[in-house]
Amino acid sequence: MSGEKVLLHMCCGPCAVHPVRSLQKQGFEPVGLYYNPNIHPLREYVRRREGAEQVADRLGIKLICKDEEYDPGLYLREVVYREPSRCFFCYRLRLDRTLSIARRGGFDWFTTTLLSSTQQKHEQIAELAGALAGGGSPGFYYQDFRPGRQEGLEACRQWGVYRQQYCGCIYSEWERYHKELHRS
Ligand code: SF4
Repeated sequence: MSGEKVLLHMCCGPCAVHPVRSLQKQGFEPVGLYYNPNIHPLREYVRRREGAEQVADRLGIKLICKDEEYDPGLYLREVVYREPSRCFFCYRLRLDRTLSIARRGGFDWFTTTLLSSTQQKHEQIAELAGALAGGGSPGFYYQDFRPGRQEGLEACRQWGVYRQQYCGCIYSEWERYHKELHRS
């Protein structure tokens, strides 16, 4: 695995610290990819992208930002009328694009920082990414990054990296804050 290239889909800065460090320790050469059309609103998307850039700079990796592909409509068309299972379609959208960029870029592997979150559907992400890869190249690199999560959060606190308060989409923002509507 020494020198093998991994395209690491990054959802934000804090989730990326441990995966990047762990991949580097194992001898991989990770490159970050910020592709997250699910994030609402645009200013939140930018704040998280800036956090991902800070972490990439700190850890010395390149970060590909797909700002030109930030299209909330694309995400919404994926999930509308199937909101209860929206996370599956959200993961699929982002992992599928990650795989296509990894393939075109000649990467050996692809993976995602979503595997470092305790809030995400970990098994579903792993199963889906494996199915998309289909045993071909690039392969899906699976690792349970959750055990190092705390270390990443602490580093980001010290570096002043933005930490989000909800998962990302308009639905998750509503779930996080809707109770405030009834407080006043
Ligand atoms: S809750 Fe998170 S993973 Fe699920 S659809 Fe929304 S942004 Fe995507």
